[in-house]
Amino acid sequence: MRPARALIDLEALRHNYRMARRLGGGRALAVVKADAYGHGAARCALALQDEADGFAVACIEEAFALREAGIRAPILLLEGFFDADELPLIVQHDLWTVVHAPWQVDALERTPLRKPVEVWLKLDSGMHRVGLGAADYRDAWQRLRALPHVGGIVKMSHFARADEPECVRTDEQLATFHDATAGLPGESSLCNSPALLGWPRARAEWARPGLMLYGVSPFPQANAIAAELRPVMTLESKLIAVRDLPAGEPVGYGARFVTERPTRIGVVAMGYADGYPQFAVNGTPVAIDGRPGRLVGRVSMDMLTVDLTGHAQAGVGSRVELWGNQVPAAQVVAHSQTSAYRLLCAVKRVPLQYTG
Ligand SMILES: *Cc1c(COP(=O)(O)O)cnc(C)c1O
Repeated sequence: MRPARALIDLEALRHNYRMARRLGGGRALAVVKADAYGHGAARCALALQDEADGFAVACIEEAFALREAGIRAPILLLEGFFDADELPLIVQHDLWTVVHAPWQVDALERTPLRKPVEVWLKLDSGMHRVGLGAADYRDAWQRLRALPHVGGIVKMSHFARADEPECVRTDEQLATFHDATAGLPGESSLCNSPALLGWPRARAEWARPGLMLYGVSPFPQANAIAAELRPVMTLESKLIAVRDLPAGEPVGYGARFVTERPTRIGVVAMGYADGYPQFAVNGTPVAIDGRPGRLVGRVSMDMLTVDLTGHAQAGVGSRVELWGNQVPAAQVVAHSQTSAYRLLCAVKRVPLQYTG
């Protein structure tokens, strides 16, 4: 069997969830959209179900998968419903929905439901992606409040630049939110992972941590709080071939790496079809049998190559960690023109193996 795999540490996931919840100071929806950022949504949600206040996914299809897996906790649809036809299903499956556009308010007014639905009413406080403008927010809130089939209304918004320390835009978004929602009763929700870690003044009743649950910092620079997160995924494989090359020999596609001296090269069963970033540069860190090493040469679809200089004991069968406890995913990100989010979401083909 091909040795490439992703180990998923569910105890680390629970540790990170507790940390997110503590930082938020209230309740927290564990964001498990996009198959829990590549970690397997059903297994991650089951591991958290005894302590999570609820879950958040992008769409109703993702919510159904969690309900089928036996998740009973609240599940919020972060993109809301795409069509009014979804409303009866939302109620039937006990889901909560974001409302981010006037047409969705109209749809709720036109569609009587047999049970009240919980709504998270989204304000566009400056990200300008989805959400009601400040001028429309109060009116939408009052129209929803008047409907017998709308239960609680949580006021929510989303930050565009919370991963930039001291960025004034985040304070401006916060002020816009407070102005637009002033006097409207009910709970609020603002914080994603970077806001939880970096913007204590954005705390509210509900937090929505995603990336930090998986133990990866959203910040490019060091952050003392993020350093307490525990990596959930370890992506690993093994050396499947070793060759001794003289000086001046190219390695892999496009000869991106050429040996400067006689060099032992190890070939790892891991490639971009597994989600390893194709554009990771020469020198991207790896761990070979637990010791620091480096990627050399261009990453192929199924294989990549590492420099075995200084790894005299390493040979075919040696374990290679691509990221995890020994190689922080953030370091791989820094070497590969990608983001921590995309790095994790890209993982595929490799079997996910759960511990904890
Ligand atoms: C994805 C998402 C989150 C989680 O963001 P992270 O940065 O991964 O913590 C929170 N809120 C909304 C609306 C989202 O779409």
